[in-house]
Amino acid sequence: MSVTADVVVIGGGIMGTSAAFQLARQGLRVILAEKKFLGAGSTGKSSAVIRQHYSNEGTIRMALYSLRIFQNFADAVGGDPGFVQTGVAMLSGAPDLAGFEANVALQQRVGVNARMISLAELRELDPSIATTGTVAAAYEPEGGYADPVLTMQSYADAAKRLGAEIWQETRVERVLMEVDHVVGVETTRGKIAAPNVVNCANAWAAEIARTIGIELPIWAERHQIGMFQHPANVERPRLTAGDFVNQFYYRPDGQWLTLVGSLDAGPRVENPDEYKESADDEFVVDYGERLMRRYPVMERAFVKRGYAGLYGVTPDWHPIIDEVPEGSGSFVTAGFSGHGFKLGPAVGIMIADMVTRARTPTAQLERSLFEFARFAKEGKVARSYAYGVVA
Ligand SMILES: Cc1cc2nc3c(=O)[nH]c(=O)nc-3n(C[C@H](O)[C@H](O)[C@H](O)COP(=O)(O)OP(=O)(O)OC[C@H]3O[C@@H](n4cnc5c(N)ncnc54)[C@H](O)[C@@H]3O)c2cc1C
Repeated sequence: MSVTADVVVIGGGIMGTSAAFQLARQGLRVILAEKKFLGAGSTGKSSAVIRQHYSNEGTIRMALYSLRIFQNFADAVGGDPGFVQTGVAMLSGAPDLAGFEANVALQQRVGVNARMISLAELRELDPSIATTGTVAAAYEPEGGYADPVLTMQSYADAAKRLGAEIWQETRVERVLMEVDHVVGVETTRGKIAAPNVVNCANAWAAEIARTIGIELPIWAERHQIGMFQHPANVERPRLTAGDFVNQFYYRPDGQWLTLVGSLDAGPRVENPDEYKESADDEFVVDYGERLMRRYPVMERAFVKRGYAGLYGVTPDWHPIIDEVPEGSGSFVTAGFSGHGFKLGPAVGIMIADMVTRARTPTAQLERSLFEFARFAKEGKVARSYAYGVVA
């Protein structure tokens, strides 16, 4: 006899665990199947920057909703997300200023605590920062970063407390359909019968969708991170920032480290199960120099380590959150294109809403923004910047 559930969630990252929690809260019997271990994908490697600087209202609302959860995590979910409120600054040169100002105005309309600040105020917030080439910054005092593994594990624990089952080392080999509706999944541990399947497999989502004849425009890209340790006697970088002048992002990591990453697109990876997980020497040297330009005191920092992870990327750098095909019980929540971690709390609610067909007004707006059909219609989600990851 096969195992049964109301919903099978595929993928144990932030999206899958947040979804499992919210679905279990609705009283559904949930099984989450993860082919390796929780956090084996992007989530375990995430820089987990939490900002609300986006170019469209729907994503800003999701980021703001999620920020409130990170701030009240013990009550809302249980456990600790490791949230550190450093403040987030988006550093603008002259060419990007108008876009920054427009986004801050949009954020303020949505209710985000954000404002443009002068270079003098920037230096007050972060005394060792150099402002060469910079004209202003968009500032969010409530932003920062979280611990992605702690957050994801807390969601998984909360889901389990509500009765969800988490099956690790369980690969979903294909989604099973009868006529035009999902009836379950075939896994390496046997069949699970279920009328709903949520594909949260990120860089692997297209491979799973293909088993029911759906071609998702999601591919894997490799993205690198460098970690630099500053000398004990210098004023270290304090802010989390997207630096459009030197074209990188950075944030503190604990007491001694600064983490740096790229804003650009990365190389495509044909097989997401096989890619180089260590950082390239050239990357570490290049991004170390960018960090030094922004913080000359970091000249005496040393490279602590580097690594690489995968983004699951779509053509407009926004996810697909939709039932595909409509009415089939097959749901896709994937392609967060390197900026999804911070949206995880909101996405869990949106998935529960889709599966239970609750259709709350808030979730509806975002859902229409992220529908699968937009790619066929050339209706991509708009953004103000060349850097897709800032979206
Ligand atoms: C280096 C890096 C830095 C980032 N920085 C930020 C940031 O600062 N802020 C931010 O908001 N976001 C950031 N992101 C993006 C963010 O981490 C991702 O958008 C988010 O973690 C995606 O979560 P997920 O649950 O969709 O996917 P994942 O965490 O990738 O989880 C998908 C899971 O599916 C599993 N899986 C795949 N195939 C199968 C199968 N057939 N059966 C069962 N399981 C399967 C995988 O093993 C994997 O564990 C970053 C990502 C990277 C890589």
